[in-house]
Amino acid sequence: MSDRVELRQVSKAYEGVTVVETLDLAMKAGEFVVLLGPSGSGKTTLLNMIGGFANPSAGQVFIDGEEVTDLPPAKRPTATVFQDYALFPHMSLANNVAFGLRMRQVPKVDRLAKAAEMLKLVGLEGYDGRGVHQLSGGQRQRVALARAMAVEPKVLLLDEPLGALDLALRRQMQEELVRLQRRSGATFVHVTHDQEEAMSIADRIVVVNKGRIEDMGPPDRVYLKPASLFAAKFMGESNVLAGRVIEQSGGEVKVDTGQSVIVVRGDSPVGSAVHLALRPEQLLLAPVPDGIGLGRGRVEVLSFQGTHCRCHCRVDGIDLVLRAPVSASLMPGQEVTLYAAKADVVLLRR
Ligand code: ADP
Ligand code: MG
Repeated sequence: MSDRVELRQVSKAYEGVTVVETLDLAMKAGEFVVLLGPSGSGKTTLLNMIGGFANPSAGQVFIDGEEVTDLPPAKRPTATVFQDYALFPHMSLANNVAFGLRMRQVPKVDRLAKAAEMLKLVGLEGYDGRGVHQLSGGQRQRVALARAMAVEPKVLLLDEPLGALDLALRRQMQEELVRLQRRSGATFVHVTHDQEEAMSIADRIVVVNKGRIEDMGPPDRVYLKPASLFAAKFMGESNVLAGRVIEQSGGEVKVDTGQSVIVVRGDSPVGSAVHLALRPEQLLLAPVPDGIGLGRGRVEVLSFQGTHCRCHCRVDGIDLVLRAPVSASLMPGQEVTLYAAKADVVLLRR
């Protein structure tokens, strides 16, 4: 199967400043892709190059194998939900939703029927005649979504569409987006800086940093085995130890962190500088088979989180964060020895 979207050797510079480095990125039909990265990393620019709102400085954009690099947005089989929704305040909801169809010269009867169908799809049945000012933020968001879906795009581009909603509504809309995506079969490209949102909706997360792709893969893989230190830190909290490889054999390396020597899975030449990364929930209070010891330390700060206790421990002068089970009943000042499964430690080249 050919790719639905393909960016081939694409880059973007504004007035000589590169904001997207030369990259390749392909997306499958029916895939839910999330572009995840901090503000200013180039997510919107990437989205706009797919939608036709920004022209690449170099490279080509293909949709279903056809080059669209020089096509305007309306000539592409894409639709965009902008960050600010960009609804027309003077138009009824029906006309807002039907707008893209009007641009495509769809007859009025047909486009209003489609608008009614789309409003129903996003839970706003019967709202056709209302004005934009009569809606809450969540309802506006739905209208923007209905408008984008009305043109039956092959690719739906969503730029931080849930950013303005409160947490409960955001969660609900995340689930609805996934349902809508599964039903429509369209490829969704969704931009966010929220890693929890990315994990809950994505088939594949693309971690973007400074106009480059740091990592790309299914949420669990990117979370558990991030390809770079940036990806490890952006996907959630990580304990990071710096060290140097002192031995390498049989798919394992021995790393000297200055405080201790830790054997982990992976390959990196002797003498190379590395980071070891571990999630807080991967630090353990008791040894495990095929595990490693991380040293003895003292509990410094504890906070009860309901499902677990978040705990800072000082081990050999290094602050480590762990999620201890509530049943461990840790106390500040208590001495603990920390362990981890060898397979959980992520080895990253520095
Ligand atoms: P993100 O969506 O990840 O926050 P953007 O793609 O909007 O990032 O922006 C990436 C970089 O490109 C930023 O440094 C931003 O200031 C710059 N940029 C974006 N659009 C323009 C533009 N039209 N003109 C000049 N610089 C821009
Ligand atoms: Mg943006």
